[in-house]
Amino acid sequence: MACGRAAPEPPNLVLISIDTLRADRVSVARPEGAPPAAPTTPRLDAWARAHASVFRQAIAQAPWTLPSHASLLTGLDPLRHATNRSFHALPAELPTLAETLRARGYFTAALTGGGWLDPAYGLARGFERYESWGQAGQGDAEWERHAEQAVAWLDALPRPFLLFVHTYDVHDFPRATRLPPNTPDDERARLYDAAVAHMDAHLGPLLARLASEPLRSRTAVVITSDHGEALGEPAETGARDYGHGSLRDPVLRVPLLVSLPADAAYLPPRVRALARHVDTQVRLIDVAPTLLELAGARPDVGPLAGDAALDGASLVPLLRAQPLTAVRPAMSYFARPGFGLALRDGLRFKYRLDDAALAPPATGGAGAAPRETLFDLAADPAETRDLASTSAAAAALRARARRLLERHAAGFALTLRAGAGDEVIVLRGALLQHGAPTSPDASVLRRVADDAGEIAVPTRQARALLLQPAGDLRLELQVAGVTTTLEAQDAGTRGVTLAFDGRAWRLSGANAARCRARVCVEAAWRGVGAPAARATAVADPGLRERLRALGYVQ
Ligand SMILES: [Zn+2]
Repeated sequence: MACGRAAPEPPNLVLISIDTLRADRVSVARPEGAPPAAPTTPRLDAWARAHASVFRQAIAQAPWTLPSHASLLTGLDPLRHATNRSFHALPAELPTLAETLRARGYFTAALTGGGWLDPAYGLARGFERYESWGQAGQGDAEWERHAEQAVAWLDALPRPFLLFVHTYDVHDFPRATRLPPNTPDDERARLYDAAVAHMDAHLGPLLARLASEPLRSRTAVVITSDHGEALGEPAETGARDYGHGSLRDPVLRVPLLVSLPADAAYLPPRVRALARHVDTQVRLIDVAPTLLELAGARPDVGPLAGDAALDGASLVPLLRAQPLTAVRPAMSYFARPGFGLALRDGLRFKYRLDDAALAPPATGGAGAAPRETLFDLAADPAETRDLASTSAAAAALRARARRLLERHAAGFALTLRAGAGDEVIVLRGALLQHGAPTSPDASVLRRVADDAGEIAVPTRQARALLLQPAGDLRLELQVAGVTTTLEAQDAGTRGVTLAFDGRAWRLSGANAARCRARVCVEAAWRGVGAPAARATAVADPGLRERLRALGYVQ
């Protein structure tokens, strides 16, 4: 019913990420029907039973720390935030959860284990206080002390606050890569479980403080992980998986526990946590929209987001035990050779598209042919039997994957270089097509360079560039590390079309010929793992003349 209640008080928000924590190692988060296992998280279990809703089908959007946290802290899929490769940073134009909350008057603070959460990678943006305990590439060896520090911050931070806590305590168990290769799997699992128990023991005081007043009444808490860890599960290749470099379920399934403020004055009207367990598929990208809704804040996705809002959606309806009108598919992405994306329909099937066009090698090589696989998770939870060629479910998921790719591959950038790597000009375009363009000529862009050296792209429909150099053309194309040389003779008379056919860039409309000018073009898909190129002014007058002769600048 409508009521005259005053606007709710903004709640404190606490987000805890326990790096590398498998869903099945948190007893209360274990899926229905999973075989029993020794309890490893007694303190987390007790806190969850008393205070939290437990999501038992939560999926990470990436299998490693940097892109998964980028999704957690923005609500965006990896193809959208484009922070998918080592040492890439979150694009500056994408707002973070912390920025949005800070603009709403929240004090934003973070205590992290560093490494891929080092401020260099952009995830610290929006935090007024951000402490990283580790160096890049190192873990958090002192979780006990850091958990105590988090408790001290809970008591001292101005309210309302967002506190983000991250630890590598579980991640730094003796990893498969550091153990002798003949280490038995049960020994690996024992070491992993011991690390989980160690993490849980020192999480205890932090949970106790969150459960005590006044924090319990005023604070929403989310506890999750960025990815799991494979401990020797059989892979479809017949080999066994170790670590977290795959798109298989021991890596993608994560725990997700959500506790709302006990005092209704700190909640939006009619929001109550009724669900104890939620078995609907949810995703890490849903966490940021959930916290924003609880804070009464609207997400601001910035100028490059097009017509879409955040990729994630608030979990508040599920906390209220309201069924969703439609299952939310969960996409996960891994930008490494041999991988690509995984798409779960949330009901039964998991589709994978591993394609060098999606995850090209870092250097050289054309990559392997695209490979599709489909697993029936109900009948084959270990993902060992590929049904892509036999199941009718493959077509629907394939189509959905292509739609997601089209939605997310929001554009590309071309950086022209001449010789020694001088950046001279940036062309920005849009590339929506994954697969062969049906009609490249219909969506050709004509070159319109402005003074800043950028080519304006009028629509999001473009799949090709029309180049009209004043003579012959030779392009060395580097697309995410793969180099292709393209040559065209007397290209200026008709122009040549530079088009991406889903696997490679090609020139059409001209003949291969001698080269009169050399320009190296580095192309990058915005949104598929490459950092945004920056427009820079032409520095070298001679080079500018050559580019003018080629027709690139006016
Ligand atoms: Zn991680």
